[in-house]
Amino acid sequence: MHLVLLGPPGAGKGTQATILARDLRLAHISTGDMLRTAVREGSDLGLAAREYMDRGELVPDELVIALIQDRLGAPDARGGFILDGFPRNVSQAERLDEILEELNLPLELVLNLQVPEAELIRRMTGRRVCPGCGESYHLVFNPPKSLGVCDQCGEDLIQRDDDKEATVRMRLEVYERENAPLVEYYGEAGLLVDIDGRGTVEQVYDRIRSELK
Ligand code: ADP
Ligand code: ADP
Ligand code: ZN
Repeated sequence: MHLVLLGPPGAGKGTQATILARDLRLAHISTGDMLRTAVREGSDLGLAAREYMDRGELVPDELVIALIQDRLGAPDARGGFILDGFPRNVSQAERLDEILEELNLPLELVLNLQVPEAELIRRMTGRRVCPGCGESYHLVFNPPKSLGVCDQCGEDLIQRDDDKEATVRMRLEVYERENAPLVEYYGEAGLLVDIDGRGTVEQVYDRIRSELK
């Protein structure tokens, strides 16, 4: 399957994409995770991206497109992929179409995860992530088995710098501005499916799976 997962920050994209990738053996491609790794490693990309991420703004298109082009060209992407956090605007979506056409891996479905804003803020402010493997937890809704430690790899969990309230607001504004045209773009292409993102992780997952049948 060649999938895109759209949705506001905190909607549960990373959580759902991780489970889908495991169950369907897809490459889980998250630009947010790739950028955070670059920032942590202090690479040129990380240095360039950091100021945008700290402000809650989008990193310039050229940077993320180069990253995605590279990643989609890797052998495992040929076995299917789920894009999480990319594209974020119409110009990224247009470039993605070109890249996938060259690779002969056309998109099959775009899942649009919908969650009300008050719930997004609850999900983001309680989010804790693993710096080792990128797994995402929640203090209340999705706690790890042992407090503060990743179930998958045992590293100490951290709060993302951009999950503090002020940055969360900015990210929601950016999303509001950029996402409507993106939804329209994929709607016109006949690829878009809305998914109700409320309820438990399992409930949302079941809704997604029933769209993939
Ligand atoms: P995104 O990748 O869309 O920003 P995440 O998958 O990181 O979102 O989820 C945001 C936060 O909400 C995390 O703390 C996650 O554990 C939690 N979460 C994810 N799905 C649900 C859900 N269905 N109900 C409650 N909390 C959830
Ligand atoms: P979210 O929980 O907001 O969905 P992500 O992990 O997808 O978070 O993204 C975190 C930050 O990384 C964004 O606020 C943005 O600065 C940057 N980023 C991630 N993906 C992209 C992208 N496709 N284009 C531009 N910036 C991106
Ligand atoms: Zn981990």
